Amino acid sequence: MSQKETLSFQTEIKQLLHLMIHALYSNKEIFLRELISNASDAADKLRFEALSHPELLGSDTELKVIVEYDKHAHTVSIIDNGIGMSREEVIKNLGTIAQSGTKEFLSRLTGDQSKDAHLIGQFGVGFYSAFIVANRVTVKTLKAGLPKTEAVEWTSHGEGEYTIETIEKDSRGTEVILHLREDDTEFLDGYRLRHIIKKYSDHLTLPIYMKKEVHGDAKPSDELEKVNEATALWTLPKSEISTEQYQEFYKYLAHDYENPLTWSHNRVEGKQEYISLLYIPAHAPFDLYTREKPYGLKLYVKRVFIMDDAAAFLPNYLRFVKGVLDSSDLPLNISREILQSNRTVESIKNALTKRVLDMLEKMAKDNAEDYKKFWQAFGNALKEGVVEDIPNKENVAKLLRFASTHTNAPEQNVSLDDYISRMKADQDKIYFITGDSFSATKNSPHLEIFRQKNIEVLLLTDRIDEWVVSHLTEYQGKALQSVMKADLQLDTPEEKTEEKKAEIEKVLSAMKTALGERVKEVKVSHRLTESPACLVIDENDLNPHLKRMLQQAGQFVPENKPILEVNPAHPLVAQLEGLIDTPNFQTWTDILFEQAILAEGGTLPDPADFVRKVNALLEKAK
Ligand code: ADP
Ligand code: MG
Repeated sequence: MSQKETLSFQTEIKQLLHLMIHALYSNKEIFLRELISNASDAADKLRFEALSHPELLGSDTELKVIVEYDKHAHTVSIIDNGIGMSREEVIKNLGTIAQSGTKEFLSRLTGDQSKDAHLIGQFGVGFYSAFIVANRVTVKTLKAGLPKTEAVEWTSHGEGEYTIETIEKDSRGTEVILHLREDDTEFLDGYRLRHIIKKYSDHLTLPIYMKKEVHGDAKPSDELEKVNEATALWTLPKSEISTEQYQEFYKYLAHDYENPLTWSHNRVEGKQEYISLLYIPAHAPFDLYTREKPYGLKLYVKRVFIMDDAAAFLPNYLRFVKGVLDSSDLPLNISREILQSNRTVESIKNALTKRVLDMLEKMAKDNAEDYKKFWQAFGNALKEGVVEDIPNKENVAKLLRFASTHTNAPEQNVSLDDYISRMKADQDKIYFITGDSFSATKNSPHLEIFRQKNIEVLLLTDRIDEWVVSHLTEYQGKALQSVMKADLQLDTPEEKTEEKKAEIEKVLSAMKTALGERVKEVKVSHRLTESPACLVIDENDLNPHLKRMLQQAGQFVPENKPILEVNPAHPLVAQLEGLIDTPNFQTWTDILFEQAILAEGGTLPDPADFVRKVNALLEKAK
């Protein structure tokens, strides 16, 4: 039964193949990393299946990969005794790309070949890198557990189609044979291949073998020798691991081209036994804020690979952490469902969360430059922790960074501790303002009194900040206070202002009448020194910035009216008194109110009307 079929690749794959061949020519050697990584995955899968079906392993228990080359045939082969593939699996795995990630992959290619080469691994399209160096690829594979007559041979020239045929194969596993292009014969060299294997695959736990080279002989001997270290890096004592090894292992784990910012490697013994190796990447993946994106650690139980992306060991807000967890307490047959509700898992999660927060605190203390990078990449994810992780709220809050009137720059580099250390002797609150942008908050009329009194205000402009401050109501015993709320309770207003209040009582009530239902109240402001008026909100009302965000998100927003505060010292307000019984009073009041909306980034119900009113006044003024 050897039905030979010719099938067509998915359109995306055709595109992808074209790209591989033409965009990655200066990074050709990565084909070996990708194919060995697939062999290693196949070994992991078999070892895992064999936990419940030991007969799958049979007598062939040493899982390994062999890399061979043949100068006469112009081939390099990667041979494993892993899980193998059935005919259906070959068609599915080597003819289609399941994840919708392909388009994303194609659109994310940067032209920087070393970055692009890492994207291949990240998007699950590594197999096709074979065509970077080969103009024909043959895959022979026998799925573990199937009879030897049900093996499959797949062949393609990397153009539009491939053939597939049922063959006989004596042993389980997969053999990938690369028929090298004319220009790529450099890979027909045992030393070159060994060098590449050491560079990319030293940390794989799967042993990689090659035939021993024989000096002066065109053909290597038949004796196999191991080329990589093949020890699980995380099981070694820290003192035996070099910085480069830690970094290489990270790059392999995370499919990243850049070194991590820092890492933490720990062995826990006693009531619970596990090893964790946790890394903080230097940059965010494009889909950090995609909710469905899988995240989590690579989970091992007693050195046996169990699963990728085990999310149960880290809270969602730390989803950027990459690493390995190797537990000695969990059962080997643990499933994702069981992980969700297991007490051992819960307590490891708590310990790892603390570890990551400690690691970040240490980075913030010892290496400001790195912390800045970290904050840029992951700050917004970390902020979620204030809401998500109540027990660690204070520790997460300690790690937050904000823009501030103290530094007066859009960079977020002021911590709450920095703020507290600069608080005035009689100041008991941490003041902040939220808004759409750095300049909108920095120039807001609400800050005038703070500038005059030289009190620092944090400028919060990320969308998530509203949510953060609604949950972080105090830090180190100090309340966080929005400067936009009505009862600011800065020190008591000066006497003079009280007198003025009496003077303009009439103006205030006339303004309220003029504005009608648009405002809750019109009152004297103690916070303005330069602007004529601003809007404030009652303690329990939504602030306008948050209101706008909710409206944009299509959410129901309760109706609440602002309070208009006016600055009696401002010449425009002073002149209002004389206008009370003239038609201009209504116009001026409208303009002051509408200016106050504009000043905090709001939009007017009828902007054209505002422009008309202002222009009419300008014309009179000439
Ligand atoms: P990824 O490894 O990220 O899934 P690849 O393009 O490298 O993407 O491989 C595609 C799929 O082909 C793998 O997920 C696996 O199912 C299958 N595959 C590739 N190589 C092997 C192999 N040596 N043994 C068994 N299956 C393999
Ligand atoms: Mg792969």
